[in-house]
Amino acid sequence: MTDDSTPDVASTPPMPPTGEQPARPSKADRTPELPDRHIEGRPKSPEAAERALVRKPQIGDSMPAPPGPPPTARGGAGGRGGQGGRSGGGQAGGEAGGGSGGEAGSGTGTGARRRRRGGRGRGGANRAGGEARTAAPAGRSSSSGSSATPVEQVLYDEEPVTVDERSARRRSGRERKGRAVGRYTMAVHVGPKATQIAVLEGRALVELIVSRPSDDVAQIHGNVYLGKVQNVLPGMEAAFVDIGTPKNAVLYQGDVQYEQEDIESPGGKKRIEQVLRARQTILCQVTKNPIAHKGARLTQEVSLPGRFVVLIPNSPTYGISKRLPDNERRRLRQILDRVKPPQHGVIVRTAAENVTEEEIERDVRRLVDQWDRIDALARSAKAPALIYREPDLALRVIREELNAEYRQIVIDDRELYEEVRAYVAAISPMLADRVEFHDRATEPLPLFERFHIHEQRLRATDRKVWLPSGGSLIIEHTEALTVIDVNTGKNVGKSSLEETVFRNNLEAATEIARQLRLRDIGGIIVIDFVDMEIRENRDEVVRVFRDALARDKTRTQVFEISELGLVEMTRKRIGEGLIESVSCRCEACDGRGVVLDDDLVGENG
Ligand SMILES: [Zn+2]
Repeated sequence: MTDDSTPDVASTPPMPPTGEQPARPSKADRTPELPDRHIEGRPKSPEAAERALVRKPQIGDSMPAPPGPPPTARGGAGGRGGQGGRSGGGQAGGEAGGGSGGEAGSGTGTGARRRRRGGRGRGGANRAGGEARTAAPAGRSSSSGSSATPVEQVLYDEEPVTVDERSARRRSGRERKGRAVGRYTMAVHVGPKATQIAVLEGRALVELIVSRPSDDVAQIHGNVYLGKVQNVLPGMEAAFVDIGTPKNAVLYQGDVQYEQEDIESPGGKKRIEQVLRARQTILCQVTKNPIAHKGARLTQEVSLPGRFVVLIPNSPTYGISKRLPDNERRRLRQILDRVKPPQHGVIVRTAAENVTEEEIERDVRRLVDQWDRIDALARSAKAPALIYREPDLALRVIREELNAEYRQIVIDDRELYEEVRAYVAAISPMLADRVEFHDRATEPLPLFERFHIHEQRLRATDRKVWLPSGGSLIIEHTEALTVIDVNTGKNVGKSSLEETVFRNNLEAATEIARQLRLRDIGGIIVIDFVDMEIRENRDEVVRVFRDALARDKTRTQVFEISELGLVEMTRKRIGEGLIESVSCRCEACDGRGVVLDDDLVGENG
């Protein structure tokens, strides 16, 4: 949850068109395929991984949590005590929540404000209902053990913060002749079937996130559950955990937390069957959405992202984003020393740059309150139960990404616009004016046409991508990896073949980086650049490629060109990919991509 690819955004697979939740399948159907482990697609040696890692520029997200010792007191789950009193921020939260089924968000002190949910005219019966929602939408609640209302994030306080002049000046976006200037635009289109969030760099679409309404099944990344261990698979070093979703989720050995005194054999790595047993109740958080047949991935180390910090409850973790300049890190470290609750870990995110102590202190306090409510609910809920639900995707994306580099955020839905504007006004008041409403009733063009997103979105699903000088890319997906083939155009040009190929590969390098991000392609990717004779040219193509990838906030690793001229790389991803999120398998050929000639291979052949 807290590694540097943290965008808590993901595309979701198609949901049943009816808007009803699928009936919960029988037990046998609920066993998913195992999700990818984080170690999959990783080089064998840490040195190779280090060399391959593409370094990011300043903008971005938090650094990974340092691998501290296992926390001594894990929260709530299993009814263990020993948490001790909480002192964070001197607030009177903590007593709220509980399994009463009551309003989980209203019990916090200081008039903290809870975001509205639901409404917004987005399809799905279970979406309506506003505040008094149960943990599981209709159709799932019967099989879920608890009907307590899950905790939701309090995004900001009712009282406005005071931002001093220094902070305000440094955090204001740039302007030119009274108009906002910035590299990025965000366009949010709320449609009948889904909300789509487009990020443009200049006019080029660089990211598209599809979020379907009321996604408590597929879009659960970041949610916290009280899960029930179904079975432990020692051979797979994994356990299936029932979290109340149609498919069981998966907890890998490395993501298991345990207490030293629970284990007989001290020292060495504990085997999963020593730590977990069937029917045990555990508190866990989803780190990867379920994708197709694969189950959701879980961790027992909960982390709660706020706007400026990430709270890691009951952990010694302490960190400040490495992407901040040294003097700013020093200032933030002093603030952190004052506001960090002693028993919880805190990571200061890049967004905290130039933010006041009061704002950071409030962010910490909101998260500590949030954790206290999660902890209280976990102690009283009956597994499986949803304990904490992440905010809607649009707010999540803004929480993770908004900075002064955004010149505008345009939303074509009044209610969402007001929600987002209020949020931005609270957390980054100097950027509030950059949130704009696109009124469908009066604007001549639909939002996605106004920004030419329509055609770019369509092109982003093509197998073939043209390069400026006539070359092309072919992007092929397989189960295990994605293959990208680079082709030169027919126009060979005047210079030498090597020079033509080199130019073509440079264009391809830049375009591939863009396509990977736009299509949200993850996992292992193999690129077949056109062969180059000269070593310096090969190195230059890889260098340009890595530079282009550095813009991608998702973590990537690029390895040196192999003997056969292939570049292997990995890209971490939380969602399932753009194409998968807007399509389904072709029924005519069952995804094979060819139609067989029945006269040759059919019964009569
Ligand atoms: Zn087909």
